[in-house]
Amino acid sequence: MALIVQKFGGTSVGTTERIKNVAARVARTRAAGNDVVVVVSAMAGETNRLVKLAYEIDAQPIGREYDVLLASGEQVAIALLALALDRAGVPARSFLGHQISMITDTTHSRARIESVGSDVLRATLAAGHVAVVAGFQGIDKAGNITTLGRGGSDTTAVALAAALKADVCEIYTDVDGIYTADPNLVRGARKIPRISYEEMLELASLGAKVLQTRSVEFGMKYEVPIHVRSSFDESEGSWVVPEEETMEQVVVRAVTYDRSEARISVLGVPDRPGVAATVFDALADAEIVVDMIIQNASHEHGHTDLTFTVPKESAVEAVSLMEAGSARLGASEVRADTNIAKVSVVGVGMRSHSGVAAKMFRVLSGAGMNIQMITTSEIKISVVIEEAYTELAVRLLHQAFGLDVAPESAA
Ligand code: ADP
Ligand code: ASP
Ligand code: MG
Repeated sequence: MALIVQKFGGTSVGTTERIKNVAARVARTRAAGNDVVVVVSAMAGETNRLVKLAYEIDAQPIGREYDVLLASGEQVAIALLALALDRAGVPARSFLGHQISMITDTTHSRARIESVGSDVLRATLAAGHVAVVAGFQGIDKAGNITTLGRGGSDTTAVALAAALKADVCEIYTDVDGIYTADPNLVRGARKIPRISYEEMLELASLGAKVLQTRSVEFGMKYEVPIHVRSSFDESEGSWVVPEEETMEQVVVRAVTYDRSEARISVLGVPDRPGVAATVFDALADAEIVVDMIIQNASHEHGHTDLTFTVPKESAVEAVSLMEAGSARLGASEVRADTNIAKVSVVGVGMRSHSGVAAKMFRVLSGAGMNIQMITTSEIKISVVIEEAYTELAVRLLHQAFGLDVAPESAA
């Protein structure tokens, strides 16, 4: 008998019919002799609807009440699933985050889990019930409701699997696994049977939303095997596991993209100590998350340009902070561009193979794309390009690195 955590995303519980199907699947897992903890997201589209309502009232709604609002979507979903399970003859109990001591910090809208209780869930399982837990939400030490960031139910599920020492965390979603590129964008994308935590962590943080980044961090830290699979069929999905020896043989595992950032340039700042600190202190004080940063080599008269990316929704605030500080900094101009995309190639094989960057740049420039920024790590290369080219860039790179060819038939 195993302990299995099963997480169902928004599409998987998008209608009452689908909720009944989820109940049937959970019932089968139980009938096979397993203990089951189920984590669910809000019904498809619900969280977006709630976000929209908040913005209709307040241009900057993020805070305590925003999380109270957003967390409500999951409450509906757990109650409906628990009802459906009861109807299917499986005794079930639903729980909100606070009822199972899902303790987080107080960073509203992107709170981090600090600790997870397991007593209530263990007692529920011991009583022969299925536990149905609201994903995406927690509570801070002062008792305020918090949410874990978009896609956060994945993190709820993996954190619970870690706390309960579950045998597996199954992530049921609207695709049947993790692919070499977003299968909704690239028709030739292929399912990856096994992928390392490290590669998945890069993919998630570089835009592949099939798993939330924090969920992969939890999986890696506590070695929770994660099985991403379809909620609509029984096929074997993709496993996220510790790195295996053969994984380095593949140079590029997958291509991904992120259209959620904006590029800000502060032009003509004096090239002297303290300028970068001033810029990034101002952004940090405003809790704006900075991703890529480049500073040009100094041009004439000891001036330089500082360019960085921030989430699109922070662009207006970042520009006004930079403009407010530009007199003090001595900057000549502040520019923002929200029509950008970050396209990345990821693979642990890059550690032992050279030439990946050169090939990537050749492919993009060959199609007439201008590369605006570049960052690399041991196992990834990211470039910023004009947003309109995103799809083309992903497709060309996918093809150039041989990802639409089955590994065994690759030359
Ligand atoms: P859920 O609501 O079940 O959490 P998400 O929409 O958050 O589902 O994540 C699933 C989606 O992730 C897929 O529909 C797919 O478009 C997208 N995706 C992006 N990159 C990848 C990838 N490399 N492999 C699989 N899916 C991906
Ligand atoms: N319902 C939340 C969202 O839409 C959490 C999740 O789906 O994982 O972001
Ligand atoms: Mg998701």
